[in-house]
Amino acid sequence: MITCIQNGKIVTGERVFEADILIQDGRIAKIGTGLTGEKNVDAGGCLVFPGFIDGHTHLDMPVSGTVTADNFKTGTEAALIGGTTMLIDFATQDQGGTLAEALRVWHGRADGNCACDYGFHMAVTDWNEQTRKELHEMAEAGITSFKAYYAYGGLMLDDCAMYDLLCEMHEIGGILGVHCENGPILEHLRAKALEAGCTGPEWHARTRPAVIEGEAVSRFLRIAELADAPAWIVHLSTEDGLGEIRAARARGQRVLVESCPQYLTLTEEVYERTGFEAAKYVCSPPIRPQSDQDALWKALEAGEIDILSTDHCSFNFKGQKEMGRTNFTEIPNGMPGLEHRPTVMYTAAVASGRISVSALCKMMAEIPAKMFGVWGQKGSLEVGKDADIVIYDPQADFTISADNQHHNCDYTPFEGFETKGSVRDVFLRGIHAVHAGELLETGRGQYVARDKMMG
Ligand code: MN
Ligand code: MN
Repeated sequence: MITCIQNGKIVTGERVFEADILIQDGRIAKIGTGLTGEKNVDAGGCLVFPGFIDGHTHLDMPVSGTVTADNFKTGTEAALIGGTTMLIDFATQDQGGTLAEALRVWHGRADGNCACDYGFHMAVTDWNEQTRKELHEMAEAGITSFKAYYAYGGLMLDDCAMYDLLCEMHEIGGILGVHCENGPILEHLRAKALEAGCTGPEWHARTRPAVIEGEAVSRFLRIAELADAPAWIVHLSTEDGLGEIRAARARGQRVLVESCPQYLTLTEEVYERTGFEAAKYVCSPPIRPQSDQDALWKALEAGEIDILSTDHCSFNFKGQKEMGRTNFTEIPNGMPGLEHRPTVMYTAAVASGRISVSALCKMMAEIPAKMFGVWGQKGSLEVGKDADIVIYDPQADFTISADNQHHNCDYTPFEGFETKGSVRDVFLRGIHAVHAGELLETGRGQYVARDKMMG
């Protein structure tokens, strides 16, 4: 069947123009005026975006003696309803295990369950000769981006492993993202806090001050400089870290910067909430003071932030966040956000007048597609590409609530957030999969083997 999306305002990273889009065999067949299909969808008054790509999610992941509330089915359904047509989740090596095993496990969790398209980054937690060899096999299997951690027992790499891994990225043309927090020091601060009888959730942020991030960003970027490899800073949250990024870029390094809606719309007052409510906002890095948020906005307006991802890692308040009621170090880290990134960012960044709709399109579709090696098929509305399309109605304002979200989670950090507009329709490779907040099709997501990062 030939579908035509008519009269919409098509958004690219450069401009917005009125045109019709003809979809055939899952791909964009033609863009022009006066087009008609067998099925016609009127997008008059609406923005038409390429499907949004979320480069940072954790679905069906075991953490802290529990498992994330969202699995690949519930997470990708929420994603798709919110306008995200592809996500890239973190397959994670077990210490003592291989990358191949981790990839098998993640395929086992995701394959056949996904509503939107998906790929995997590979998180390297055990650096050895076998792992080094496997990196090349991963690149052949379509895994071209990797992750390493400076924090968390069981995940953390030391500086030498980080250096060797970055050298290998240089070899295979891969990109390494790093969770930048100084793990040993923050663990030390947490132990001291507990010793002093400080057990409440507000201590999560107090034991992870900005320098904890800034120091790790600096160290990662210096080691990347030594290894002559590009660096991906995941979930940047501080002005301190931003300063280190500016210094590295001034040295001529290639740095790709990711931030997330929670760092741009929430401030540390969330940790002053009583009745253990603060635990809902326990994520790492933590939510920051207003001054950090202001600095991130300036950077975003100046084009210094490349991509916006969610770091979606959901746990229910009841039964999961509550595990840390008497000890903040036992609160599982993470928050839901997959469904809400497009509306929250459209509202906070575009409707507010801070950036253009094209700039948003770049950060949520074009640059992630280029960075994660899917630009040949996704990331923009162009003839020949997958018909992953979002029709956004800028007049359909909405109030986000746990009651109307589709995450499998009993709260949302964006409770009460009033959006400007909402996602009306979503097409996944030409399949009309979402209309007015309802799923029309599920289980149609496909694994995407990825190319190398562009440029
Ligand atoms: Mn992280
Ligand atoms: Mn993460």
